[in-house]
Amino acid sequence: MLSRLEGARVGSRYGASLKSRSQLRGFLPVVCLAGRQSSEGGLGETSKTRFAIVGAGFAGLGVCWNLLRQLKEEQGLRHRGGKIEIDVYDAHGVGSGASAVAAGILHPLNTRGNVTWRGVEAMNETLALMKQIDRWRQEKLPNDGNEAILRQTGVLKVAKSEKDLERFERIKAERRGEIELHVVRGAEAATGRGDDCRGKAPGYMYTPHAYAVNSPKYLELLEGVCHSMAGEGRDVSLRLCKTLVPSLEMLEGQGYTTIIICAGAAVGTIKELRGKFPLRLSETFGVELETALSTKAVASPEDRGLLASIDCDPSLLGQTYVVKQPEDKAVLGAVHSEEQVDPEDALGSRYCHIADGLDDRAQVVNREKMMAMASRLLEKSDTIFPGLLQGYELSSVHCGVRALPPKSEEGRLPVCGKINDKTWYLLGLGARGLLYHAYLSKRLVDAILVEDESKLPQEVTRLTREGETGGRE
Ligand SMILES: Cc1cc2nc3c(=O)[nH]c(=O)nc-3n(C[C@H](O)[C@H](O)[C@H](O)COP(=O)(O)OP(=O)(O)OC[C@H]3O[C@@H](n4cnc5c(N)ncnc54)[C@H](O)[C@@H]3O)c2cc1C
Repeated sequence: MLSRLEGARVGSRYGASLKSRSQLRGFLPVVCLAGRQSSEGGLGETSKTRFAIVGAGFAGLGVCWNLLRQLKEEQGLRHRGGKIEIDVYDAHGVGSGASAVAAGILHPLNTRGNVTWRGVEAMNETLALMKQIDRWRQEKLPNDGNEAILRQTGVLKVAKSEKDLERFERIKAERRGEIELHVVRGAEAATGRGDDCRGKAPGYMYTPHAYAVNSPKYLELLEGVCHSMAGEGRDVSLRLCKTLVPSLEMLEGQGYTTIIICAGAAVGTIKELRGKFPLRLSETFGVELETALSTKAVASPEDRGLLASIDCDPSLLGQTYVVKQPEDKAVLGAVHSEEQVDPEDALGSRYCHIADGLDDRAQVVNREKMMAMASRLLEKSDTIFPGLLQGYELSSVHCGVRALPPKSEEGRLPVCGKINDKTWYLLGLGARGLLYHAYLSKRLVDAILVEDESKLPQEVTRLTREGETGGRE
């Protein structure tokens, strides 16, 4: 079992992010580092609408941004009149859960290469949000440096067999008009010849519609844009409360109009919600490497025609994934531990820095276990992408807990809905937080403002409808 809170470390893969984050704070209007103690704005007071959001990862910040967007657009919230207060609670601060360690792959494909439920729509929503953030950044933070939050890389899904290639061809035909897909049948698979192809993939599917997101930078800017939007509103306040929420009762006692639970895999740390959602908690590890590798090398030389015309290295999807980052870095994921994970273990992602000599940190995060998981991941990746990993240096190992929702006909979809008259949730983003957070937080906020759960897609409200919030999967 992982050490609990005292063992959790929060960090950034990008040292520069932390620096610019503190610079950013210079103009943030209100930051409350302790929990709100005041009972001001109690139930009897009608002149205030008070929102509490629990969790400041992709989901919680997505909800916060959408609430503020509604205000800005003078719709929804504004007609209620009076003051609007939004308090975002996070035990360890913004981006301290799984979101902080997300490798950053944004694409709409599932593990079999098909387009996932509303995948293209959801991806476009994330892209639209990121573009707005980028515009805000250019306008308000012209000296913020050139660390991009989003790069279009495309993604390459390697086929393991002829059967995979046939499936890819079928998907390509079915999805024509929805998403651009290319299937490249390797020389060996096509002709049965080609010595250079030994150990290489028999072919692959490629789509340009995939992105690499710098997750820590994205979270930092999303927080910044939320504060900026709140600062523009006359009667709006936004506070970040770095406080553990042990129970719904604690929030109810503070007179919130609406409570929105975006607590990721740690939702069970809230007393009334422990064991209520059938989420499987998966302790997941990834590594960052210093490497000059080119992901195009997974295809044999004869099969690189399509890839040769692409400027960047596409991300690789297989049983493990590889995301090439700027400056000769790459992020690899993911392997999972088989240990029992408790919700408390999910409060705070963990880093083990190898290259920067921060041994004290390494001890805190259980260096032995992190290194063992890193070795397992590197070995597995070497089998899946033979010959790709050469001459690299391990920079860091990271770990977070993913909340995997139960399988449905549409795959593992996040869950979203209403717990009671004032409490809503967006949980179970699983391995697709980047894909679904913007899309679902927008729909959730729209549903909350008209107090109508049926405004949410029924595929994600299945737990409420089936009364399934009864325990772990
Ligand atoms: C190693 C790894 C790599 C990944 N790579 C990708 C990727 O490439 N692409 C992708 O789309 N997804 C990826 N994911 C999945 C993605 O990170 C998650 O889907 C996403 O971060 C979930 O976001 P969230 O906001 O729901 O949860 P979180 O980011 O975990 O946020 C929940 C927050 O709630 C806070 N919290 C919880 N309980 C309480 C409480 N009681 N009181 C106060 N605060 C509380 C926590 O501190 C936490 O900050 C990866 C995950 C891991 C672990």
